[in-house]
Amino acid sequence: MSAVQRHRVIILDRDGVINQKRPHTVTDMADWEAVPGSMDAIAFLTEADYTVVVATNQSGIGSGRLSVAAMNELHAHMHTQVQQAGGHISGIWFCPHRDQDDCDCRKPASGMVEDIIERFSVDAEDVWLVGDRLRDLQAVAAVGGNPVLVLTGYGRQTLSEEGLPENTQVFDDLLAFAQYLIQQHEAEESEF
Ligand SMILES: [Mg+2]
Ligand SMILES: [Zn+2]
Repeated sequence: MSAVQRHRVIILDRDGVINQKRPHTVTDMADWEAVPGSMDAIAFLTEADYTVVVATNQSGIGSGRLSVAAMNELHAHMHTQVQQAGGHISGIWFCPHRDQDDCDCRKPASGMVEDIIERFSVDAEDVWLVGDRLRDLQAVAAVGGNPVLVLTGYGRQTLSEEGLPENTQVFDDLLAFAQYLIQQHEAEESEF
């Protein structure tokens, strides 16, 4: 029996996963530096027919440190870099709010993840969220998806924190996760 490949969605946190975190809000191109291997990781996932999207907390918008126009410019730059590596990002979800705004999209709230699940009509079990903070893992665990912690950005610090969701998987970086996932699913699908 040849199984139709399941639709799988990989949600990436941005800062600390795709690009290096900064001690301040990433506001312009000079701040933009890819995490080593992240462009290749997105390309491999794209090539293997995963849908790759981004979900990012950008409270700098709510607090006035970042304009939507500047963020869009950064994201255009990110799209270009990803495309040059052979990858594709199918959408970028962002939360512009601050903690005190009490919205349902700022991670650890799961609003962005729920929206992505609905947009791509995918089962939560076929959704992974890769992040470097506890709140990333919580946002996807809350809806029954797969939390993945990478040790880039704040990842090493997060690993030492209490309260990681039980099914959290840990990888050195996005590239290590992408390689593992693709290999695992290829092995599963060749069993049929
Ligand atoms: Mg992050
Ligand atoms: Zn929000």
